[in-house]
Amino acid sequence: MALALSFMNAKASPSRSISGHLRGALNACRHSWKLVSRLALDIALPTLCVACREPVDGEGVCAECWAKLSFIAPPFCPRLGIPFVYDPGPELLSMEAIANPPAYARARAAVRYDDVARTLVHALKYQDRTDLAPAMGRWMARAGRELLAEADVLVPVPLHWRRAWGRRYNQSGALARIIERQAGVRLACEALRRVRPTEQQIGLSRSQRASNVQGAFKVASDRGADIQGHRVVLVDDVLTSGATADACARALLRARAASVDVLVFARVVDTHKAPI
Ligand SMILES: [Zn+2]
Repeated sequence: MALALSFMNAKASPSRSISGHLRGALNACRHSWKLVSRLALDIALPTLCVACREPVDGEGVCAECWAKLSFIAPPFCPRLGIPFVYDPGPELLSMEAIANPPAYARARAAVRYDDVARTLVHALKYQDRTDLAPAMGRWMARAGRELLAEADVLVPVPLHWRRAWGRRYNQSGALARIIERQAGVRLACEALRRVRPTEQQIGLSRSQRASNVQGAFKVASDRGADIQGHRVVLVDDVLTSGATADACARALLRARAASVDVLVFARVVDTHKAPI
């Protein structure tokens, strides 16, 4: 079509030189080729479900995987966001929140950390699937709307530079950027730093996890103004024992944050401990 139009224009303007017409026709050709190749690419690469890789309408996960994701909804512990099997009434805390109160005030998660959630987290973290961040971030913004409504600043859990070197980007930062756009809360990306490298938390006991990350985080000396007196929402991909979030919250509170809440994509829910 673009090519035909170009020739019509050529007839309508006899004063243009032949080379000018040729150039026009060539550009039109290039343009339509671009369109054709883009179309071909769209046909060749349908959007795939992020979890099972089956073709899917729109973005994110297919209906089957969506059904397998366990979105966390009330009733849950107002402190830790752990889902309750039955509603114990408002303001009643979970046993975990009473036995092991964390340094942060409240935690919320979009989903339980199960098979589909693990696939999403691993794809985002290790396979450079940055295209997953928008859907995951939106689910987080929804799960954390109560915290975000009161927040002044978002702080992603930082990677140590040595680990960031091997991995191209920080998955918590990618999620926080989506939440920033969704909730309109300012993002302070480099405010919290990892001041010493830590072992991977995988395979460590609860107390090992806590000592592994103790003192590992610090608010950068030139970024104190981003934190002091502000209500912070700390952003991470997964909450397991809560040791990392706790160490980060302590660092933020030492830098005089007014409060620290935690928002993650997925949290481990210990089904053995859940009330019947
Ligand atoms: Zn799927």
